[in-house]
Amino acid sequence: MKTNIILPAFIFAAMATSFQAGASTYELQSPDGKTVVTVSDADGAPVYTVDYDGKSFLLPSPLGLVTNIGDLSRGLAISATAPVENVTDSYTLGNIKASHVDYTANRGVITFAKDGKPVFDLIMQVSDNNLAFRYRLLPQGETLCCVVESEATGFTMPEGTTTFLCPQSAPMGGFARTAPSYETNYTLDDTTGKNGWGNGYSFPCLFHNGDKGWALVSETGIAGDYCGAHLTGKDGGLYEIAYAQPGEQNGFGSTGAAIALPGYTPWRTVTVGESLAPVVETTIPFDVVTPLYEPSRDYEYGKGAWSWIIKMDPSCNFDEQKRYIDFAADMGWSTVLVDALWDTQIGYEGIEELARYGKSRGVDLYLWYNSNGSWNDAPQGPRGIMNDIVKRRQAMKWMQKNGIRGIKVDFFGGDKQDMMRLYHDILADANDYGILVIFHGCTLPRGWDRMYPNYAASEAVLASENLHFSQGMCDAEAVNACIHPFIRNTVGSMDFGGSTLNKYYSSDNSPRGSKRMTSDVFALATAVLFQSPVQHFAMAPNNLTDAPSWAVDFMKNVPTTWDEVRFIDGYPGRYVIMARRSGDRWYLAGINAQAEPLVTTLQLPAEMAASSLGMYSDDKTLNGSYKEIKADKKGKVKINIPCNGGVVIVTQ
Ligand code: CA
Repeated sequence: MKTNIILPAFIFAAMATSFQAGASTYELQSPDGKTVVTVSDADGAPVYTVDYDGKSFLLPSPLGLVTNIGDLSRGLAISATAPVENVTDSYTLGNIKASHVDYTANRGVITFAKDGKPVFDLIMQVSDNNLAFRYRLLPQGETLCCVVESEATGFTMPEGTTTFLCPQSAPMGGFARTAPSYETNYTLDDTTGKNGWGNGYSFPCLFHNGDKGWALVSETGIAGDYCGAHLTGKDGGLYEIAYAQPGEQNGFGSTGAAIALPGYTPWRTVTVGESLAPVVETTIPFDVVTPLYEPSRDYEYGKGAWSWIIKMDPSCNFDEQKRYIDFAADMGWSTVLVDALWDTQIGYEGIEELARYGKSRGVDLYLWYNSNGSWNDAPQGPRGIMNDIVKRRQAMKWMQKNGIRGIKVDFFGGDKQDMMRLYHDILADANDYGILVIFHGCTLPRGWDRMYPNYAASEAVLASENLHFSQGMCDAEAVNACIHPFIRNTVGSMDFGGSTLNKYYSSDNSPRGSKRMTSDVFALATAVLFQSPVQHFAMAPNNLTDAPSWAVDFMKNVPTTWDEVRFIDGYPGRYVIMARRSGDRWYLAGINAQAEPLVTTLQLPAEMAASSLGMYSDDKTLNGSYKEIKADKKGKVKINIPCNGGVVIVTQ
């Protein structure tokens, strides 16, 4: 992977700097000319705008920061601009939505000065449908470090914009005081001018700019060197960058960022488009970051089984885990995730024996760990290991010796810089021992899929555990599943743990506990719609005999890594249809949360239309079946998805 910078003469036409009555305006366009960003320093308080195809997507939106070496949000003037550069990158990544990405952007650097002294560069990269920008804070004389206390940076939505947002939790709430972990319900098509539950909104944030299109706002590129941010909703359609909340980590630790100078803020990203295709298909969280180290081994992704989601804590015993190893082997899956409490309910020798047994059946183990620490009350063991470099590396050495494939580390403490550093340290140490890492009870991964070669996925979503805990979540399963492909999952791999074929979330699949309201085809469709290179599905050994064989066979073979994604149709919270390609095989998946059946004729991707096809679909009563079909001469297929149902079309 290499970044090339070339300077074709025509690019200079993309930039115009005009000076008028003491104010400068700077314009930067995407390579296709449709995404246009302007920056102005009028009144000393810089602002930027984003237009797409001649339509306004961000109104003048504030820029700047407040630091302990000065207020860098006021009294600013553009003092210099660098020539626009064309930046290209070509990279291959097996664990995101697209295995190969060609990135090309126009890059502008604008220097802002205060009292005549340069204080920061605003670095902007505009690719087709995407803006990424960050600040480079400059040394001030002998001052080579500073604390960034807050930002003026914001995103001002045009009038009439509606919002698809996930409220940021107050700190130290929820289970065992583990909030925030980006596990709240979205509000859909809401008005601007609100602020969630009083604490803003978690990234990523989706906005509907009326009939003009869509905008997704997020951030990427935090490597333990900055705090995570979220958005605070203000009046006038403004959403401001807000840092971690003071109460996180039991009130300990600062909310801002301590950086060396020159030093960078994370990249903030804005993805815009007329349809949701640029939002679903964007790779911007990965385009502007680079791998931080070489992988110590060839990491293997794949599918696995996980007892806890159906059978909970009592199932973390030796016999049940052995049964799940057999189940995984029968499914042709490569891993079993052993969840919390294994340290006391199975013990280290028991795990060693299970790992040996797993190897004999071609199944590796993932082990759950508590992240804490001093930041919450989560009691599950093993505790006090992942937060301590010495104990963590000893544990990882033991795991490596016993061929443990990966870890799932849970119950993190929010977005403060200290906590971002813990993610960074766990990942770097785990790579030394060849271990893949899943984060749970965590906040958003910010570019980590590309930055850390042994990173697998993060939760940061109301995941399948809530289907077990609550009938209300089962009733709303389809609505929520129609949100994630457009928002949370589009900026990073999502550890959801779904696709159960049980009728009930009970250990024997009898009518106890939460009842699944969605169809079997829906379960298959979400295995395609929800992207993570490592999937521990919520299927149970009883599904080998009590679920339809076509569904079980599909789950044996569904890929977890993809070469390409194509948005077909959908609306957040109502329905979603998209297609993914793995090798030369396409999987088109759709689900419907609307009361009325979704009856539509789909134009298939050309590569699918030419092939003979298999279709999994539901009848009116959500009974699924499989049949072979062909597209018509125009490459179209008619589908009918009932409420809570699904469709999957696969090339043969
Ligand atoms: Ca959780």
